[in-house]
Amino acid sequence: MDEKPVDKNMKFEAVIGLEVHVQLSTQSKVFCGCSTRFGSGPNSQTCPVCLGLPGVLPVLNEQALMSALKVACALDCRISDFIKFDRKNYFYPDLPKNFQTSQLDKPVALNGFIEIEDSQIKKIRINRVHLEEDAGKLIHPEGDTSKDYSLIDYNRTGTPLLEIVTEPDIDSPANAHSYLSELKNLLLYLDVSDCNMEEGSLRCDANVSIRPKGQKELGVKAEVKNLNSFRAVQRSLEYEIERQTDVLEQGEKIIQETRLWNEDRQVTISMRGKEEAHDYRYFPEPDLVPFILDKGTIEEVKTSLPELPRSRRQRFIKDYSLPEHDAKVLTQERKIAEFFEKCCSNYNNYKAISNWIMGPLQAELKTRSISLLESGLKSEHLTDLIKLIDSGKINNKIAKAVFTEMFDTKKAPVLIIEEKGLGQISDEGQLKKITDKVIDDNPKSVEDYRNGKEKALKFLMGRVMAQTKGQADPVKVNELLMRRLNNEE
Ligand code: ADP
Ligand code: MG
Ligand code: ZN
Repeated sequence: MDEKPVDKNMKFEAVIGLEVHVQLSTQSKVFCGCSTRFGSGPNSQTCPVCLGLPGVLPVLNEQALMSALKVACALDCRISDFIKFDRKNYFYPDLPKNFQTSQLDKPVALNGFIEIEDSQIKKIRINRVHLEEDAGKLIHPEGDTSKDYSLIDYNRTGTPLLEIVTEPDIDSPANAHSYLSELKNLLLYLDVSDCNMEEGSLRCDANVSIRPKGQKELGVKAEVKNLNSFRAVQRSLEYEIERQTDVLEQGEKIIQETRLWNEDRQVTISMRGKEEAHDYRYFPEPDLVPFILDKGTIEEVKTSLPELPRSRRQRFIKDYSLPEHDAKVLTQERKIAEFFEKCCSNYNNYKAISNWIMGPLQAELKTRSISLLESGLKSEHLTDLIKLIDSGKINNKIAKAVFTEMFDTKKAPVLIIEEKGLGQISDEGQLKKITDKVIDDNPKSVEDYRNGKEKALKFLMGRVMAQTKGQADPVKVNELLMRRLNNEE
């Protein structure tokens, strides 16, 4: 049959669906009592259950189920009243049981949504949320080609994973990025995962297809694996959309396949086609009984949910008269949001508090590579500092230096100012001596000013500030300089 040639001017649109795997931060594994701590010696956190030895019986970790329910509720999902586990069979050295205990047709929850904000608010529907176990880790000796073996660490085997799958509602790589950051935000708020991408706590597979604009039917998708940063998700999707567009414009067909993202070359590479796709031969896990969740448990989870990022954002705008941008930045991390509110209960210059948290505070945390908690910063210390600025006791520049010192010494700002003699000089007699000397030393600038060059005043002001290391009260200095320059004395 003849195919219609593709119109070169045809515009395509992208359709994206994401599958996110989240490592739940429970103390122990999902079906045994082994610790889930990251970074311990290889194979030190294993037992017959997670090693899949014959005759062992798994037991579901209640905490893992509760975390899954929290996420499902926060995503407005319908919690399944009947929950069951299934075996997903495949052989791989990192999977000692030769099957992964997962969920097929009766997952924890179905049909939710999350709202994301790009230029406008958009609903991304959640298809399903299910619990499963993680596999182990293969370690390949790097850069040594003489070694023809791989090592295996089973510590991660059996770590609880939550898989969150969207409907194909995402329409651009930027949109995918927003979805992931909103989801990460939510998970951090719920305190169910550390979402540390470097340690693999948050992993994503991206499904993408393109179709002519306006067409209802979905195109053939490619699934991109091996994405371990938000940036990689966005870049690989950009690459994939371009590649698929080229294929269609050449008059060729997209084939359904799994592709790998190559971070070094910034390209996706075909891994396997549909024909080679696994048939996992799912069947119900006979060692874990299916169960019915009682309504009380679900209600309990619902009422225990903390305030979620979106509603907190809206409340910040309303209660503290913050611009949308501030509210967005401040609610990105639960700890930061809580710190902001604590500061606001100490002092009511909300916008100044917001500026200090978004600017200098975040900068200090970043340069020191520490979290807010680790910094030990007290909310009263920050608000005291802002009060000192507002009452004219110190200027902004000095405040910044004091702030840095606060991180080094953990001392209260007043103490630092006292010890270092950093208070503002507002004594008129003392200031007059300095301004007079600056005027006497710079006759050219005085002449310039009198000839109408406003800039000269700024220069003189700068000289006074330099001589007082920025401590002179700028309003008073300005007054004193003007008086002399305008011959008022
Ligand atoms: P698979 O069986 O290949 O895993 P699923 O139907 O389970 O496929 O979907 C997996 C993910 O791919 C979901 O996030 C879904 O929204 C997305 N998806 C499905 N079809 C398409 C498509 N044609 N284009 C883009 N994404 C898709
Ligand atoms: Mg899939
Ligand atoms: Zn174990």
